[in-house]
Amino acid sequence: MASNGNSTTVIRNGTLIDGAGNPAKQNEAVVIEGNRIRSVGGLPPDVNLEDRDNVQVIDASGRWIMPGLIDGHCHLSFGFPHMPGVPSARGTTSPEFSTLRAARNLGKILRSGVTSIACPGGTWFIDVALRDAVEAGLIEGPRINCAGRFIATYGSILDNEPSWVGTPEHALAKLCNNVSDMITEVRRQCKHGVNFIKMADSQYGETQTISKEELAAVVEEAHRRNVPVTIHSRGAGSTRAAAQAGVDWILHADLAGEEDLDAVAEAGCRLVPTATALQRAIELGVQSGRSERELDRVRRHIEAGAFVLQRSRELGIKVLCGTDTGNSPHMHYGELHANEAELLVKHGGYTPMEAIQACTRDNAYVVGLENQVGTIEEGRLADIILLDADPLADIRVLQAGRHVAMVIKNGKAVDLERGRSDEDPLAFQPVSF
Ligand SMILES: [Zn+2]
Repeated sequence: MASNGNSTTVIRNGTLIDGAGNPAKQNEAVVIEGNRIRSVGGLPPDVNLEDRDNVQVIDASGRWIMPGLIDGHCHLSFGFPHMPGVPSARGTTSPEFSTLRAARNLGKILRSGVTSIACPGGTWFIDVALRDAVEAGLIEGPRINCAGRFIATYGSILDNEPSWVGTPEHALAKLCNNVSDMITEVRRQCKHGVNFIKMADSQYGETQTISKEELAAVVEEAHRRNVPVTIHSRGAGSTRAAAQAGVDWILHADLAGEEDLDAVAEAGCRLVPTATALQRAIELGVQSGRSERELDRVRRHIEAGAFVLQRSRELGIKVLCGTDTGNSPHMHYGELHANEAELLVKHGGYTPMEAIQACTRDNAYVVGLENQVGTIEEGRLADIILLDADPLADIRVLQAGRHVAMVIKNGKAVDLERGRSDEDPLAFQPVSF
């Protein structure tokens, strides 16, 4: 444990990858005081490594030191994983049960080296409660920055309850078919403490389901309350319209063309492509619950998305890393949070260093902690991981916590063994459809 009441922790040796893009270098001393990084580089003269009562020394020889990973797109309260014997109505059960399950999932995320997540959409206000419980120290987990239910219109993704059911509170979306309903919902969600607003366009970008005027109204209302806005947008037109309306970051954007990306660049809007979920669907094939026809569509989106990645890099658009973990029974907690970095390298032509920056420093934006987390620099919050292999040599080293030797969040080491047992009720269960 890093903090037996010790106020100072010193990480000696190892190779430092600072998240800011500086070349990896041999580390002398990263000094943590309380929950912040006090210094990086030489050992300050007043720190006495022999003072074992007050100074904890971690020897990182042979290891790589990095900022904690950030998943910019992770859902906590969609009701996954399914559990045998636990009833689930369309993926959800009671808010009480869902909250407890989600709390347990948080431990898996943290132990895989992920110290912050952005949650664009959840059921009820479960994610808000989880965020506050982590912050209050009630439960263990990554820092959470969250939206509420998606704001959707007829035809938007996840307005998928049957017509005779409508959109009950357990639904993933709140149906709002005009500006007035949207503003009311933005206000309601702000009142209940969301960090940002999530809108939802059509599932595959078939049509633009939210009008320009509606996008602008939501952005204006949310921004006036100092709350940023994101959108699920795969279509070309919806992506361009969202950027022009002042949406802060766009999720997916797969079908965006040259001119749409010009609009994104001009607006200074960020992109979170989230190719991981598409990639996972292809890997699983029909096991993912998709038909061959839908899988073909997914393949086309991956191809189109590769252009978006490459062109965005050329245009200097900030591309962030999100995975959509928790959006389906196949997107397991603790396993996929760093997979997007590999796709940036493989499909987008990003260097491993650029991909690391995307899932650390640049991702700090979507968790509302820019210049607070995501880099190992003086004054930053002490969210740090140690790896036993070099992620610059193989970016997959970041995945599934396989090479995570230590996780420090907010200055404290996480007990990696806790919660790792043979009897894990949340272990993956094959699901039949
Ligand atoms: Zn999602």
